[in-house]
Amino acid sequence: MCGIVGYIGDREALPVLINGLKRLEYRGYDSAGVAIMGEGTNVYKCKGKVSDLEKHIDGREHSGSIGIGHTRWATHGEPNDVNAHPHVSYHGKFIIIHNGIIENYARLRDKLIERGVKFKSETDTEVLANLIEHIYENGSVDAELAVRLALSKVIGAYGIVVMCTEEKDKLIAARKGSPLVVGVGNEEYFLASDATPIVEYTKSVIYLNDGDVAIIKKEQLNLKTQRSDETGPTVQKLSFDIGEIDKGGYEHFMLKEIFEQPQSIEDTFRGRVSSEESEIRLGGLYDVLPRLIEAKRIIIIGCGTSWHAGLVGEYLFEDIARVSVEVEYASEFRYRNPIIEKDDIIIAISQSGETADTLAAIRQAKEKGAIVLGICNVVGSSIPRETHAGVYTHAGPEIGVASTKAFTCQVTVLAMMAILIGRKKGLISDNKYRSLIKEFTEIPEKIKKILTLSEDIKKLAKLYQNANNALYLGRGYLFPVALEGALKLKEISYIHAEGYPAAEMKHGPIALIDNKMPVVIIATKDSSYEKIVSNIQEVKARSGIVIAVVTEGDTVIRKMADHVIEIPETTNIFAALLSVVPLQLFSYYIAVMRGCNVDQPRNLAKSVTVE
Ligand code: GLU
Repeated sequence: MCGIVGYIGDREALPVLINGLKRLEYRGYDSAGVAIMGEGTNVYKCKGKVSDLEKHIDGREHSGSIGIGHTRWATHGEPNDVNAHPHVSYHGKFIIIHNGIIENYARLRDKLIERGVKFKSETDTEVLANLIEHIYENGSVDAELAVRLALSKVIGAYGIVVMCTEEKDKLIAARKGSPLVVGVGNEEYFLASDATPIVEYTKSVIYLNDGDVAIIKKEQLNLKTQRSDETGPTVQKLSFDIGEIDKGGYEHFMLKEIFEQPQSIEDTFRGRVSSEESEIRLGGLYDVLPRLIEAKRIIIIGCGTSWHAGLVGEYLFEDIARVSVEVEYASEFRYRNPIIEKDDIIIAISQSGETADTLAAIRQAKEKGAIVLGICNVVGSSIPRETHAGVYTHAGPEIGVASTKAFTCQVTVLAMMAILIGRKKGLISDNKYRSLIKEFTEIPEKIKKILTLSEDIKKLAKLYQNANNALYLGRGYLFPVALEGALKLKEISYIHAEGYPAAEMKHGPIALIDNKMPVVIIATKDSSYEKIVSNIQEVKARSGIVIAVVTEGDTVIRKMADHVIEIPETTNIFAALLSVVPLQLFSYYIAVMRGCNVDQPRNLAKSVTVE
């Protein structure tokens, strides 16, 4: 989620690090820092952008030709100067930058505290810095072995670069789950989260694999695995230009973010959902769990796509946790003089955590004594700071204005919460729980499969790129997906589109149907399948064009619909997570074909911080 850079060679490290961080700023931008080793060792870090870091360093000592730098996207601890990376171990011997999440950090931290180790920050990363130093000091091992031993105790995802002030000739880099690339120069090496910062110095790169540990000296690189076997690094040649790599080779951030969804959902799961555990762990809700279990009513508030995620949440909570739910537009809720009881639970959903209407509604609900929870993506943003408790989505930075991965991660969090409450209430048996978690954890793989359909969806988009209107229909869990599909089309391609519960069609929208009207029907197999099949027939009887999203192997709808998009089967509880993906792709390709500015559609802002 964050950006990592490193340098070892003969150049002054600081300009290399700062340029690199600027190129990586799109990966995270809440705080930044560098550490440079020369005669002495200097660490500079602060909240804000890389430009703030530059001002912070200006006029201070920074010479040295070994260094590391980081631009942070906080997961543990709000963005501030202390939580910014690099992190320095308690006796100052190790300096580390980290991208990822250490899942077992709390346990490791407690153990280290028991042994007298003092912590300065709230981050999971500092635990790793201190663990390495603890092993180094107590195990009489060198820095390399200390890093490898520490990593063997860590559960989670990391891309790290470590400097040791007692072994000033090297950088130690390792990865598991987070990307890390080494640029190979002439008696110099560059390190970065992706090749963007490296390409201007060298085109020879080594992509580290999960489990790799690289010991990098100015004149040589040794690649090992955590268990020490020497492996020969594969040097590859870069063949792309800088503009392309910001977006990871994708034409737009939106497309990149659509394709990131399997990984983002894995990141949302990380440390929380596992087939080995008997329940879902949501640390951020720990203190309010008894209130959640007893709640008679949950009110979900949000705006735009977050409101759609909230609607899926309504189905989830009522279905799995048997608690009554209302979903409200934050802007309406706040001005309606709503009835809020003391034991109501309010869940506020916002990608940015800064949505003005949602924030105002939260303040009002708190005044009336409700418990307010947040589901946000940006750590340390206003909503998480103002709510009593909450869960971060950990989707990583979302840059495309039209929300995609934030939506699926919000729905993932809501499903986790509903399952947690249902289980605590004794509504989900052991067997049912096991099968739910199995289905749940298979979602990322199934999304990957849907993404392989992107060329087919592009062809479909070509046929309908000139449509003036479109209708989206779904039932149950898939009704909010219809709304979300229509919103995606409107906001990036400027085609008028409406989402409806399929049964409502007869109460109005059916009058719009003619042979020019594409009707996108989400018709995967669930309890309302037969009903939606009838709706498809009703559209066909009026010469409408049916584009149906169906479950793999469906032969019934294939015979009726003009086009079908087949997606893998899952239980209806998780169906929204899969069925929204083809609709995102469909809107994306139509918008591109119409020449629209996909990442920054007209009149829209990424986070709506004004009323
Ligand atoms: N978990 C670390 C933190 O919150 C690293 C986050 C990142 O990847 O930027 O500081």
